[in-house]
Amino acid sequence: MRRIVVVGGSLAGHRAALALRGLGYDGRLTVIGTEPHRPYDRFPLSKGFLTRQTDRAGLAIDGAPADVVWHLDETATGLDLAGRRVIVGDRRALRFDGLVVASGARPRDVVLVQGALGAFVLRTVEDADGFRADLEARPRHVVVVGGGLIGAEVAAYAVARGHHTTMVEPSDLPTVKAVGRPVAEHLLRLHRAAGVHVRRRTRMRDLDVRAGAVTGVVLEDGSRLPADVVMMATGTTPNVDWLRGSGLAISGGLQCGPTLHARGSDRVVGAGDVIRVPQALLGGESPRVEHWASTLAHADLAAANLLAGPGKGLPLSALPTFGTTIHGARIRAVGFPQVADRSRVLWGSVEAGRALVALGRGSQIVAVVSLDAHERLEPLVGQLRPGSSLDDLRTVSGVLR
Ligand SMILES: Cc1cc2nc3c(=O)[nH]c(=O)nc-3n(C[C@H](O)[C@H](O)[C@H](O)COP(=O)(O)OP(=O)(O)OC[C@H]3O[C@@H](n4cnc5c(N)ncnc54)[C@H](O)[C@@H]3O)c2cc1C
Repeated sequence: MRRIVVVGGSLAGHRAALALRGLGYDGRLTVIGTEPHRPYDRFPLSKGFLTRQTDRAGLAIDGAPADVVWHLDETATGLDLAGRRVIVGDRRALRFDGLVVASGARPRDVVLVQGALGAFVLRTVEDADGFRADLEARPRHVVVVGGGLIGAEVAAYAVARGHHTTMVEPSDLPTVKAVGRPVAEHLLRLHRAAGVHVRRRTRMRDLDVRAGAVTGVVLEDGSRLPADVVMMATGTTPNVDWLRGSGLAISGGLQCGPTLHARGSDRVVGAGDVIRVPQALLGGESPRVEHWASTLAHADLAAANLLAGPGKGLPLSALPTFGTTIHGARIRAVGFPQVADRSRVLWGSVEAGRALVALGRGSQIVAVVSLDAHERLEPLVGQLRPGSSLDDLRTVSGVLR
C-alpha cells in the first residue's frame, strides 16, 4: 500500500495517522479535514474549557504523526470506490490504495441554530467559545434542550455560574441512556438540588427567534420558556453524506464489520463517531459509539487491519467506556447502558453518592457504572461478555468489599 487517505482531521483521523506511522507504514499519508485547526480534543469543551481550567492550547492532542500531508479547511465531497479516488471540494481527486473514514458526527440541530443569536450547539471550539462568552457576560435564562451527557454537563455548568437554568428532556429520566436508571436518578436529584429546572416528558417544538436573537423555547404543548441562551444538546448525525452513492452501507453511520473494514470494500476502514460495528455483547447489534477511548481503540485497530489486508485483521474487542463529573459526582461507565432494562446495585449506595451498579438487558449484563468508585469497577469489566448474567456478578462480589 503506497497511498493512504484519511478523511476527518480530528481525534480518529489523527490517531489513525499516528498508528499507521507507528506500525511502519512509510507510504504517502494524507489527512483531509473540514476544520481549519490541527486536531484537538472535544471532551473538555463541555467541562474544563467552559470553566477555563483548560485553554485552547490545552485542547491539543498529543503526538504528531510524521510526514503527513494535511489538507485542513477542506472537505471530502465524494468517493469513487472503483476508481479509488476521494473527491475533495468541487472536483479535485486524491487517489488511494487504502482509505480511513474518520469523518465523525455533527450536532443534529446544527442548522437550526444558524442565524439565531444566543442559540448554540456544542461540537467545535468555536461553539464552546461563543457559548461561554454569552454565559460569562451577564445573568441569563438558559434552556438546555436534551438531557444526555452533554446536556447534563452544560446545565450543571450554567447553574453553577448562577444562571436560571432549565433542561428539557423528552423521556422520564435525563441521562438514563448514558448511565442507567439508578445513577440517572441520582443525577436528577443533584440537578434539582443545584437549582436546575428539569422539564421531563416534553419536547421543544420551536425556537422563538425575534430580530435574529433567540427569546424562548416553545414546547410541544404550546407553552413557552423564556430564554436568551439555548443549547441544543439533542444528539448527533454521522457525517456520511460524502459517501452517498459510493456503494458503501451508510445507514445510521458507516457500517463496518468486526475488523472495522467497511461493508462493501476491503480497502476502506472506519473509526470513531462515524462508524457502526457489530457488538458480540449485544448479539451482533451495531450501535454507534461516541466516546473518546472508543475512538482511539477504533483508530488503532483500523490502521492495523488496513495494513494487514483483507481477511487478516483482528476483531474489535474494546468495550465502550467514558468518564465524567457532573455536579461533583464522578461517573464512569463501561459497556452499553443505552440498551439496559434492569439494574442491580452491587456495592455502596447510589443515594449516598458512592456505588457500583450493573445494568442488564434481559438476563445479559450489558454495562457496569461506577459512582465515585472507579477502583471497584475494573474487576467487573471482565464479566461483560456474551452469556454472562447479573447473577454471575455474585462470583466477583468478594473484590467489592
Ligand atoms: C462537547 C463534547 C464533550 C464530549 N465529552 C466526552 C467525554 O467526556 N468522554 C468521552 O468519552 N467522549 C466525549 N465526547 C465524544 C468525543 O469527543 C468523540 O467521541 C470524538 O471526538 C470522536 O472523534 P472523531 O474523530 O471520530 O469525530 P469528530 O470529533 O466528529 O471529528 C470528525 C472530523 O471530521 C471532519 N469532517 C467531517 N466530514 C468531513 C469530510 N467530508 N471531509 C473532511 N473532514 C470531515 C469534521 O469537521 C471533524 O473535524 C465529547 C464530545 C463533545 C462534542
